[in-house]
Amino acid sequence: MKSKCYICGTEFEGGSFDCCPYCGWMYYGFESELDPNEKDDGNLISINDAKRMVAAGKDIYGDPLPKKQ
Ligand SMILES: [Zn+2]
Repeated sequence: MKSKCYICGTEFEGGSFDCCPYCGWMYYGFESELDPNEKDDGNLISINDAKRMVAAGKDIYGDPLPKKQ
């Protein structure tokens, strides 16, 4: 099963509660129902913070993003 990361748009092999191999976001599949400014239990930071990190070239832990293949 393929899922598409809500944060960075990367498609990866996995489903709900698997982590994106690119940005590290734990994928839920219902991100659109969450408050994007609120931190939830599964991830360290909120959706909007995670998107800001990816836009700045970092994963959700603040490390540089891996190169896309
Ligand atoms: Zn991602």
